[in-house]
Amino acid sequence: MTATVITGISELTTNEPELGRLTEAAVVVDGERVVWVGRSADEPVADERVDVGGRAMLPGWVDSHTHLVFAGDRTAEFEARMAGQAYSAGGINVTVEATRAASDEELAGNLRRLVNEAVRQGTTYVETKTGYGLTVEQEARSARIAADVADEVTFLGAHIVPAGESAESYVDVVCGPMLDAVAPYVRWADVFCETGAFDADQSERVLQAAKRRGLGLRVHGNQLGEGPGVQLAVRLGAASVDHCTHLSDEDVAALAASDTVATVLPACDLSTRQPLAPARRLLDAGVTVAIASNANPGSSYTTSMAYCVATAVLQMGMSVEEAVWAATRGGARALRADAGDGAVGVIRPGARADLHVLDAPSATHLAYRPGVPLTWAVWRRGQRVV
Ligand SMILES: [Zn+2]
Repeated sequence: MTATVITGISELTTNEPELGRLTEAAVVVDGERVVWVGRSADEPVADERVDVGGRAMLPGWVDSHTHLVFAGDRTAEFEARMAGQAYSAGGINVTVEATRAASDEELAGNLRRLVNEAVRQGTTYVETKTGYGLTVEQEARSARIAADVADEVTFLGAHIVPAGESAESYVDVVCGPMLDAVAPYVRWADVFCETGAFDADQSERVLQAAKRRGLGLRVHGNQLGEGPGVQLAVRLGAASVDHCTHLSDEDVAALAASDTVATVLPACDLSTRQPLAPARRLLDAGVTVAIASNANPGSSYTTSMAYCVATAVLQMGMSVEEAVWAATRGGARALRADAGDGAVGVIRPGARADLHVLDAPSATHLAYRPGVPLTWAVWRRGQRVV
C-alpha cells in the first residue's frame, strides 16, 4: 500500500465528536482507509504528499435516497407542474414504461452516468432503488444492474400499483416471487406509503415480508400529506423514513423516541412545489435528520447534494454544521453505514477514505455561495476521482 498524506486543510469536518472540527489539518490515507487525522504540524511522513492549499475538507456526501435505475425523461410533466398542475404519484408510470422498454446496457449506462455526475459533485456513497420495473423479471433486472454500480441497493417494488392491476394482488406478488427474485441483490426494502400508492395495511404487508427475509426497512412517508408512513416506519424499526414533509406532533414525537432517521429531500419538495420539510422542528425535538437528493426523473431530477445543503441552510433553518452532518453522517446513519471499520460519513482512522475538498476555506461557503460548483477534489475509497 502507498500511504498519502493530504495536508494544507484549512478546516476539516470530521463528524466525529472526539475529533471535532480541526483547522490547519492533515489526513493520511492508506489503501481504502483513513489511517491518521490530526494537525498539519504533527503530520507523519508518508509515501506521497498532497497539499490542498488551504481548502476545506469534509466527508464525501452520502446520498441515502436516489432512484437512478430508469430510462426516459419527464420534462413535460415538470413543465406542467411549473404551470400550476399538482404533483401526483401517478407520473411514475411514465418512467415505468420507458424503463421496461430499455435494454440492460441503456439502464446501466444511464445509472453510471448519473452516479459519475454525483461523484464529480462530491458524492462518494450512493444508495439507489428499484421501482420502475414492477414485474418480477423487471425488478430483478433493476436490482442486478443497481448492485453493480451503487453502494447500497433498495427494493422498491412497492413504488406504485402498475397500471391496470389491483393493489391487493400486486402486493401479493411484491411479497412473494418479486421479493425472492431481488433478495440476492438488495440490502433494503422500501414502500411508497402515500395516497395514490400503498395504504398502511398494504405497506405493512410489504415491510413485514421484507423483514422476514432479513432485509432492512425504509419507508417513503408523509410526502403529499400527513399519513401513516412515519408511524409505520417507527413501529417496524425502519432505518429511515424519507420525505417527512407533512408531520403531526405525534409523528415528530414518535421519531424523537426512535432510532429511525428522518430523511428530508429538499430538492423534491421544491420541484413538486410542496412546503419544505420541517427540519428545524425535527432537530429541535431531538430527531436524527438526514438530507438526500431523491434524484429521480419525475419529482427531483438533481444529483446535487450541495444544492440540498444550501437549501437546508437558507430555507429550512438548519445551520451549516447541521446540514453538512445531515448530508454526510446523517445519510450514513440512515443506511446504518456510519459505524465500525469502513464507516462512511466520518473522517477518522478506520473510516472509508471518502473525502471531499472544497475550493473554499470553510464549509460555510456551501450556503454562502449557493449554486457555485465548489467541489475541488474527491477521494472515493482512497482513490482520487476528481
Ligand atoms: Zn424517493
